[in-house]
Amino acid sequence: MAKYVYGFGAGQADGDGSMKPLLGGKGANLAEMNRIGLPVPAGFTITTEVCTYYYDHERSYPPELKSEVAAALKKIEETMGAKFGDAKNPLLLSCRSGSRESMPGMMDTVLNIGLNETTVTALIQQSGNEHFAWDSYRRLIQMYGDVVLGLKPEKKTDPDHFEEILDHEREKAGVEHEKDLSVAALKSIVEQFKDVIKKHAKTEFPSDPMEQLWGCIGAVFGSWMNDRAVVYRRQYSIPHNWGTAVNVQAMVFGNLGDDCATGVGLTRNCSVGTPGFCGDYLINAQGEDVVAGTRTPLRIEETLGKDMPDSFKQLTEIGKKLESHFKEVQDIEFTVQKGKVWMLQTRNAKRTGFAAVRIAVDLVNEGLIDEKTALQKRRIPADDLNQLLQPIFDPAGKKKAQDENRVLAKGINAGPGAATGQIVFHASDAEETWNKNNDVQLILVRKETSPEDLRGMKVAKGILTAFGGASSHAALVSRQMGKTCVCGCASLNVDYDKGTISVGDKTLKEGDWISIDGFTGEVFAGKIETKASEVMDVLMGKKKAEDAETYSRYAQLMAWADKYRTLKVRANAEAGDAEAAVALGAEGVGLCRTEHMFFDHLDEIREMIFATKLEDRQKALAKLLPFQRDDFTHLFKTLGDRPVTIRLLDPPLHEFLSEHHLHDDPTLAPKLAKTFGVTEEQVHRRVEELKETNPMLGHRGCRLGIVYPEITAMQARAIMEAAANLKKDGINVQPEIMVPLAGFKAEFENQARIIRDTAAAVLKEKGVDVSYTVGTMIEIPRAALTADEIAQNAEFFSFGTNDLTQTTLGISRDDYKSFIGDYMEKDIIPSDPFQTIDQPGVGKLMKIGVEGGRSIRKDLKIGICGEHGGDPKSVYFCHEIGLNYVSCSPRRIPIARLAAAQAAVDK
Ligand code: PEP
Ligand code: MG
Repeated sequence: MAKYVYGFGAGQADGDGSMKPLLGGKGANLAEMNRIGLPVPAGFTITTEVCTYYYDHERSYPPELKSEVAAALKKIEETMGAKFGDAKNPLLLSCRSGSRESMPGMMDTVLNIGLNETTVTALIQQSGNEHFAWDSYRRLIQMYGDVVLGLKPEKKTDPDHFEEILDHEREKAGVEHEKDLSVAALKSIVEQFKDVIKKHAKTEFPSDPMEQLWGCIGAVFGSWMNDRAVVYRRQYSIPHNWGTAVNVQAMVFGNLGDDCATGVGLTRNCSVGTPGFCGDYLINAQGEDVVAGTRTPLRIEETLGKDMPDSFKQLTEIGKKLESHFKEVQDIEFTVQKGKVWMLQTRNAKRTGFAAVRIAVDLVNEGLIDEKTALQKRRIPADDLNQLLQPIFDPAGKKKAQDENRVLAKGINAGPGAATGQIVFHASDAEETWNKNNDVQLILVRKETSPEDLRGMKVAKGILTAFGGASSHAALVSRQMGKTCVCGCASLNVDYDKGTISVGDKTLKEGDWISIDGFTGEVFAGKIETKASEVMDVLMGKKKAEDAETYSRYAQLMAWADKYRTLKVRANAEAGDAEAAVALGAEGVGLCRTEHMFFDHLDEIREMIFATKLEDRQKALAKLLPFQRDDFTHLFKTLGDRPVTIRLLDPPLHEFLSEHHLHDDPTLAPKLAKTFGVTEEQVHRRVEELKETNPMLGHRGCRLGIVYPEITAMQARAIMEAAANLKKDGINVQPEIMVPLAGFKAEFENQARIIRDTAAAVLKEKGVDVSYTVGTMIEIPRAALTADEIAQNAEFFSFGTNDLTQTTLGISRDDYKSFIGDYMEKDIIPSDPFQTIDQPGVGKLMKIGVEGGRSIRKDLKIGICGEHGGDPKSVYFCHEIGLNYVSCSPRRIPIARLAAAQAAVDK
């Protein structure tokens, strides 16, 4: 038979710390604290299985529960030497929630259960403190009314009957806090509170302690499904079917006088990670006073040692014992009752990325944990490393902006970091301004970005767009460049003609200051000061490692990550970001998007577009070749003997010339007509021919190289000439030439033949041997499904999960923003599929691709180069399905290295 109730007290417990799924975090750790001899008031935990039962059975309990609760209650009475509801020596109880993962403040708590007209009198006699007893009683009625009877205001405009009465009584007595009210006032408040319940909840406040207790248990189970809790679980991916446990515990009092206190503390500082107990406390107060913010708490590390030296000593020793037992920084709740410290809760503390790294490294150096434990994902969520790598807002400055109501809007946090600058709308203006003054701070604001905004993005501190999602052009280019980016900010109205942006009635114009937070997606009007990342400064040679404390711990952690991971990490990088990629630890380039180089040479590309004859196209391509070769030379040189995957041209040609270009620059059509000896009408006609209704599924990828083989030949030549020249200079280059968007074996073969023929010719001309491979992206479902066929000729695979996601889901990567929010809100999909791999769908195709490929070539090298390559959850998945490497934007490399290590150590 299932056991539904687990007791604890006086150094013994039915459960232990490993039982979080059944007892919830709080219940399991209360049991564990008992077992290690810490002072914990006796109590019992009703399991999460009861919560599941409760929701499966129309909010009713298993029949055995009543008797199990009664037996557990009896044990508390024995341990505490008091009786629940007794007229002389009453036991009072608290009732708290506690789920497997902590959900701070989301569910409910009731204290002082068991008080009524009779027991309050006994409490007065026992404590000798009439004020305390009546105050405890009024708190019970208030909490019971709020939590059990549903009188807690939901909206700002709902009345808070209890607080109104308290305000009125405080005002009447001319005091600031309830603690200064007279006993008579408290008695009157108790009566008024009971009337509130009668009037608004249409019931009597129950004087029977058992009825009170069961009311509270039901309310705590009920709070699992309250709105706040549901939203919180969705945000943190906590399954709704886990349920909460209920903890019922003997009350201890921090409000019995000045030798009593209550507090919440941390065994180390969790903002920056420095060692030493810290936290908040209040003398002569009850738990919720600290959280409620009605009285300003004191700092444990500053004054508790002076105020209560003995309690401070007990607490410090408890802190040490907790850390050495749990091997983790703890977040605790405690009460001091007449000089004795009682523990009410302990749990692993939440912390910033800065603190997470420092604490994990320090715990290893202190001998409490080993390196593998330090790397665990629950200790350092890999994404949190971002905080160490990006500029951040000065916290006081950001708070001020929030307080001053300067938040304009919220979009997708696409490129982490903090950026502040003057609004500029056009890439060319940004570049011009920057050329005049390299210190200028600009934020490029666009409805959406396209590849020709690249130059503007390069010089801007940050990018803000109104449309586009997590793998839109703006997002992926920003991440690759390490720029702060907020995209898909739908409430932003961008008016290029007027040179303004507006949200509601707030309008900013070109040149005005704006600030964007790429960690949260928030957009602020005005300037907010930023601070540079110390880690990046050291990595890029701007600061010495020995002067950098944060860097030294970061470096230690990354060395451990590299020691344990098996998955390699590469960068999505071109010549311009290759140095940063190497500094951040790239073991190769997994994706060089050659089209990014083309945007610096639009004239030549457009000449090719206008060529009607093969020779003319070849002439234009010959002009591009040296530029490409120079770029590849730089890239190969920077990467040395690391592998470099270069992808052939991918986007449709209209990205280099479209109606939109002609419209934005009225001089362009006449200029092109003159340059290429055609009429303006012919220019427009050619543009019309290039237009595609559905460009993502149009003439792009290897389809370009198949129709225009000379493009493929030119690119293969540029790559191999660069490689051959460097090989002659003694650099052991490792080119990997990658065909985009192949879905048919024949498509790949067509392109591979051109590449191999060209390479053979170049190597012959140069008289040198370079070993190179030719492989393909797997980015449309057909390629994954026929991977065995494609692997007959392809020497490596790289999953292009951006396209594979859009083609598998039939959801456009550029147009999903308008509904994805609703999809996540309505639990249709668990997360943004363009950020985290959709494992059951896209992931299944990847598995098929891996199996197919390796059924033909056992050791086929397989990587991923879609945006997912830098997403920790997706990295875990890539490890699991046996990929050789992940490739991501340079700034995400440390995150991917840590995530890869976590996949290896966290089983
Ligand atoms: C992809 O599709 O995942 C990919 C890397 O290619 P791109 O984003 O350039 O289409
Ligand atoms: Mg692609």
